[in-house]
Amino acid sequence: MNIRLTLACMSAMALCGYAHAVDVRAYVIAKTSGEVAADMSRVEACIDDMNFVYAQVGLRFDLRECSLVFSNELYVVVRTNTTSWTALCDYAQNTGGIELYFVGEIAGAHVNAFCTKGGIVIGPDATPRDVSHEIGHACGWKDIYEAHAGTDLAVSGRATEERLQEDWSPYYPRGITQAEIIHRLLMYGRTGDGHVAIPRGDVYGLWYVNVWNPGVRTWSRDWRLSAVPVSAWHGMNRNPTSE
Ligand SMILES: [Zn+2]
Repeated sequence: MNIRLTLACMSAMALCGYAHAVDVRAYVIAKTSGEVAADMSRVEACIDDMNFVYAQVGLRFDLRECSLVFSNELYVVVRTNTTSWTALCDYAQNTGGIELYFVGEIAGAHVNAFCTKGGIVIGPDATPRDVSHEIGHACGWKDIYEAHAGTDLAVSGRATEERLQEDWSPYYPRGITQAEIIHRLLMYGRTGDGHVAIPRGDVYGLWYVNVWNPGVRTWSRDWRLSAVPVSAWHGMNRNPTSE
């Protein structure tokens, strides 16, 4: 009951324009030869999309700084090399909000952007919605899928009240599948501008947690089918910050 009251207040605050504000600082890497990883309009498009998406949960993002950082070394970040992205994300530290780093290339993995404790790394192919999705990771949410090449587990069948917990509504089209619901979520693990919804409660789907295997000293993915933490009501960090 307390939770319901709190959320009612937050919704009212959002409607009245008193959304909780998160500061954002953007660092755009440039080569000394003049190549720049992003122009100002692209940075602003990302902030606009974050504000569009997170209005659902009463969060607002204010761009406090946008700086050019001239560094040939930081222009290309290697996803699989911790030293590489740590060096980038240490450029600014503990600014009190979110730090965005626009780079010229993300090498070593097929990702458009990724979230680290030190900030969000944004490659040249990342869309504003990709960046909003990464902010979701900074808020503590996991990726949700309907199926993935890494596992035989998969979501099948229709959406039900049980699978949507606090979000079930008779207004969903009759017979809509759980996979279609998952495709609409901001935390759907694949890129696309249609992924926007932030549910109130956790949603049944396919997800993984990273598990450390001490014997072989590697991480692996432990896939599971259950309620996925992607929601405003359960454990959302409303003060996402970069170290
Ligand atoms: Zn993700």
